[in-house]
Amino acid sequence: MNIETPLSPPDKVTCEKVTSFIMEYVNQDLPPEVMQVFDRHIQKCDDCVAFLSTYRQTVTAVSALTYDDIPPDLQARALDVIRRKAGG
Ligand SMILES: [Zn+2]
Repeated sequence: MNIETPLSPPDKVTCEKVTSFIMEYVNQDLPPEVMQVFDRHIQKCDDCVAFLSTYRQTVTAVSALTYDDIPPDLQARALDVIRRKAGG
């Protein structure tokens, strides 16, 4: 539902990005400016709210999700993109 364009404002975070960083988001492991961008998206996105809720329940129930789910290379690249967007 989110379509990115070259002129996307800094707060245009896609559901895909939120999903990719859900663990860091829940653990508050993201830079403050990225947390802020994610917060803004999640406040407007029912899909991500539902996903976040499901994720929290899963973590609470299983408590065994590993960082390996997200390749470090992808983490670094996506975070770099988000940082640049957040910084304008
Ligand atoms: Zn979303």
